[in-house]
Amino acid sequence: MKAFTFLAPEALDEAVALLDRHGRDARPIAGGQSLLLAMKDRIARPSVLVSLAGLADLRGWRYSPSGELEIGAATTYAALISAQFGGWHGEISAVAADLADRPVRTMGTIGGALCQADPRFDMPALAVGLGASVDTASAGGARTIPAAELFAASGGTVLGPGEILTTVRFPTLGAFSGVAFEKFRQRVFDAAVVSAVCGLRLDADARVADARIVLGAVAQAPVIAQRTGRQMTGRTLTEHDIAELGAAAMEEVLPVSQAMSSFHRYQRELVGVLVRRAITRALDQARS
Ligand SMILES: Cc1cc2nc3c(=O)[nH]c(=O)nc-3n(C[C@H](O)[C@H](O)[C@H](O)COP(=O)(O)OP(=O)(O)OC[C@H]3O[C@@H](n4cnc5c(N)ncnc54)[C@H](O)[C@@H]3O)c2cc1C
Repeated sequence: MKAFTFLAPEALDEAVALLDRHGRDARPIAGGQSLLLAMKDRIARPSVLVSLAGLADLRGWRYSPSGELEIGAATTYAALISAQFGGWHGEISAVAADLADRPVRTMGTIGGALCQADPRFDMPALAVGLGASVDTASAGGARTIPAAELFAASGGTVLGPGEILTTVRFPTLGAFSGVAFEKFRQRVFDAAVVSAVCGLRLDADARVADARIVLGAVAQAPVIAQRTGRQMTGRTLTEHDIAELGAAAMEEVLPVSQAMSSFHRYQRELVGVLVRRAITRALDQARS
C-alpha cells in the first residue's frame, strides 16, 4: 500500500475544505471496507485520506416533518440494523442485516456503499428501487441527486472530485404500499449474483397504482425495468400475472442473444425468479 496522510476533520465544512485543498490526491474514507482493499491492491492510490468518521452530522437518522427518512451517509450497517425502522423502511434494516459479515456490517456505511457503486452491492439497487435521493456537499456548493441518476451507466457515480455524499433520503410511501428486496448469492458472505427490488402502491380497488422494478448486478449500474413496471399498473395481480411479469423482466433486462455467456443465461433465470419473489412479497405487504 502506498504511504498516505490521514486527516480527521470534525466538521463537514472542514472536510470539504480539506478535499478541495488536496484535489485529486485526496479521497474521503468512511468505513474503509472497500477503499482499504482497493489501496492494498494498489487499484486506488490516494496520498491523503479525509475521514468522515468524526462528522456527527453524517451519522444517525431522523424523520423529516413530511415523513421522509433521512440517513446520514456515514451511518454504519450496524446502526441501520439496530434502528429497526418502522413500516416499509424496515426493509432497509433487513437488507443491512443480511449482507457481508459482522466486521463489514460494523464498519461499512450506507454512503460508502453508494459511492463505491459496485453493481453487486445491495444499497445501490435498494436506493434506486425505493426512489431515494442523496444530498451532497462540495466546495462548489450543495446539491440533491435522485438515486436513479447517481450511478453512471458505465460504472461509478456522477459525483465530482471532493464531493461528499452527506444524506440519503428515503421517501414515505403511504398506505397500501409495499417494498421487497431479494437477492441470490453463492455463499452467505458473497455479494449478489443478481438482486431485485419491487416497490409498489395499490389503489383503493387493490389495483397497482404505480410500481418500480429494479435489478442489481446485471449491468454496471442498477437497471430500472421500466416496461415491466408499466405492465403492472392498473391491474389486480394474480399468481399467473406475476409469473408473466418475471418473464417480462428477464426479456427486458437480459434478452437472449446468441453471444450470451452461460453466466448471463444463469443471471437471466435468476432475474425471473427474484422479480416474482419481490413482487409477491411487496404485494403481500401492501395488502396487509
Ligand atoms: C468481505 C466483504 C463482503 C462484502 N459483502 C457485501 C454484500 O454482500 N453486499 C453488499 O452490499 N456489500 C458488500 N460488501 C461491500 C460493503 O458494503 C462496502 O465495502 C461498504 O459498504 C463500503 O462502505 P465504507 O463505509 O466501508 O466505504 P469506504 O470503503 O470507506 O469507501 C468506499 C468508496 O466510497 C467513497 N466514499 C465513502 N463515503 C463517502 C461519502 N460519504 N461521500 C463521498 N464518497 C464517499 C470513498 O472515497 C471510496 O471511494 C462487502 C465488503 C467486503 C469487504
